[in-house]
Amino acid sequence: MKPDSTELVLELAEMNSSRRGFFRAVSRGVSHSMEESKVSDVNPGRPLGAVEEALFSRLCNQCGDCINACPQGVLSMGSNGPIMDLSLNHCTFCQQCISACQTQALNTLNTTDTGWRPTINQSCNARLFGNCQECVDDCPNQALTLAPNSVPSLSDNCNGCGECLSSCYIGSITLVEKH
Ligand code: SF4
Ligand code: SF4
Ligand code: SF4
Repeated sequence: MKPDSTELVLELAEMNSSRRGFFRAVSRGVSHSMEESKVSDVNPGRPLGAVEEALFSRLCNQCGDCINACPQGVLSMGSNGPIMDLSLNHCTFCQQCISACQTQALNTLNTTDTGWRPTINQSCNARLFGNCQECVDDCPNQALTLAPNSVPSLSDNCNGCGECLSSCYIGSITLVEKH
């Protein structure tokens, strides 16, 4: 644990019991710069459940426990803490990374969205030839829909798991941060 984060961790413990608790904690002046932060926002690029980046950078002690806990191997240590890379595998939302984190940098307030979304470029075989629906079939959330002469369209069902990325054998899919 970082030396200056004890008070913040105590305050953040309330996050697990209620969202209102978090905002009470913020309003008590944990950090003025965090007053407008929303802990429910996803933090793309960090492990699942990562709190908003300003909080995360204060809480994460870079112990690496989340990385070791991830059975999918999608987490690694970056220059300023753990990062999520869905280019080789997808996130299953098993929450083992969150369970492993002892500092509340990863928190159960967000366990449903990685913060990534696929974009499909014009080289898509479904658009060009109408002979592919690999990503549509593999999506566990039925978030992709085929339309004639077009790339698959994305619905709000997408949780950013990244499975479609590895489904596309010609590399037409990239992941971008959710807006
Ligand atoms: S939820 Fe599971 S698969 Fe996803 S990053 Fe965390 S440990 Fe890995
Ligand atoms: S387990 Fe928590 S504190 Fe440790 S590196 Fe991962 S996010 Fe940071
Ligand atoms: S990221 Fe996951 S949920 Fe979203 S479209 Fe791809 S496979 Fe489906």
